[in-house]
Amino acid sequence: MTHQSLAPSKTLTAGTRSSNGTPLVLNYINGKWVGSRATNFLPVMNPSIGQQIASVPLSTAHDVDDAVGASDHAFASWSTTPIKERAQVFYRYKTLLEKNIDALSALVHEENGKTMSEASAEIEKAIEVTEFACSIPQLVPGEILEVSRGVECRIDRCPLGVVASITPFNFPSMVPHWTIPNALVLGNTMILKPSQQVPLSSLRIAELLKEAGLPDGVFNIVHGAQEAVKAICDHPLIQAVTFVGSTRVAKIVYARATSRLKRALCLGGAKNHLIVLPDANEGMAASNIAVSMSGCTGQRCMAASVMIAVGEVDHIIGRLCEEAKKIIPGKNLGSVISKEAKERIERYITEAEHDGATVLVDGRGVKVEGKEEGYYVGPTVLDYVRPDMKIAQEEVFGPVLSILRVKTVDEALKIQNSSPYGNAASVFTQSGRTARYIIERASAGMIGVNIGVPVPREPFSFGGWNESIFGTGDITGKSSIEFFTKLKKTTTKWDPEAKKNWMS
Ligand code: NAD
Repeated sequence: MTHQSLAPSKTLTAGTRSSNGTPLVLNYINGKWVGSRATNFLPVMNPSIGQQIASVPLSTAHDVDDAVGASDHAFASWSTTPIKERAQVFYRYKTLLEKNIDALSALVHEENGKTMSEASAEIEKAIEVTEFACSIPQLVPGEILEVSRGVECRIDRCPLGVVASITPFNFPSMVPHWTIPNALVLGNTMILKPSQQVPLSSLRIAELLKEAGLPDGVFNIVHGAQEAVKAICDHPLIQAVTFVGSTRVAKIVYARATSRLKRALCLGGAKNHLIVLPDANEGMAASNIAVSMSGCTGQRCMAASVMIAVGEVDHIIGRLCEEAKKIIPGKNLGSVISKEAKERIERYITEAEHDGATVLVDGRGVKVEGKEEGYYVGPTVLDYVRPDMKIAQEEVFGPVLSILRVKTVDEALKIQNSSPYGNAASVFTQSGRTARYIIERASAGMIGVNIGVPVPREPFSFGGWNESIFGTGDITGKSSIEFFTKLKKTTTKWDPEAKKNWMS
């Protein structure tokens, strides 16, 4: 793809080129594309080919303040637009996502490196959460009750005001959609701070929202990294912050935003365990585990990272390795996000090998013909990993599966539950009783039974436990309605003749 075709539209390129000739990404404030006041810029890479495709500004607190001003101004009229009208914007937006799915997927593929089919699945999920947002008016009618003769109590769900959403690199379109449609249908206005590594998909989101009829100022984008995030946490007019990214940064953002008395929900990293029993269906377990460890090149918070083999499961491991070898970088496996990520993942594998792990499938040193500068790591399966090894404990975020051998389900649960994370856990067995035993005891927010990537589909909400999340509730589904609204309780009496009691 050329640089020109990368641009989601002329807004990205018109008169806006960085000094090295690549398109300069603009902020989006009050329905207009505006240059940041940044003095520092970062390259945006196409990781499949290792080439720079754009430059992104590291926006400043002033840029955030401009966006907050626009959002705050827009809130007055957006929050008083009837919810059914607000939802209509998202019915139109959903149609636009469907119409543009190929171009949107191409953009995700280009800036993130995942395969086209994975990119298109990401847009399908964005469409699904938008669909949920369209149903919100049916879910949020208030409550009303005559509590004494002539006295009525009523509860209304009200938007918070300006909210901010900070997102990671691994799902440039889906993760922003976890918050945008629900928060806006509920009457909030928003500032999105996308990952500086994948800023381009958000530009198309803004354009399509405008095309769907979203008023200017309701949705704004400020690009950048740490400085912009700090300014978001500190800004007195921002009422709530959502964050999705690593646990290290989730903790920083949660602590800073809540210390400024904001509502915050911060989703962090993961280390997901799959417990595999000898009675598991061999084909189903092997293919599910291979897809879970390597899908999106292992760069998803739901990826299988540790397989705990309970007893004799060599037949499943053998089949799993066959499946893993069918996953070919550059063909049905995308790149990882950066050169640094490739080096980090390969370092984890090499260290584990030195510490005594057996490399069954080795994805190090991969080169893809015609894309020699791309950042590829092939699927990697390591056996006889011990629980004390670094690779068994830390988030690798690459297509690497560590196999740990234990004798009992309780030993497996002990390992799973010793992880500080708690995003997802899975069990592969044909015994309902064993599955139930593990479901009840696994300390994770999302559990799979014979499913390697147990992402709940809408309307079921998404969210982990432990150090995979900070704050209350989940980020999508009905839980998000709680997060993005506050309750107003009104007590009314109109009839002066109505019988009096202690509350009237
Ligand atoms: P990251 O934490 O590096 O970045 C996330 C966001 O935080 C980005 O917008 C980035 O600009 C900003 N940021 C980075 N450093 C910062 C700092 N010091 N102060 C303030 N803001 C900062 O995460 P990433 O590498 O983009 O994404 C990968 C991580 O996200 C993995 O750990 C993955 O598990 C996690 N993730 C979690 C979920 C989930 O649902 N729990 C979903 C997707 C990704």
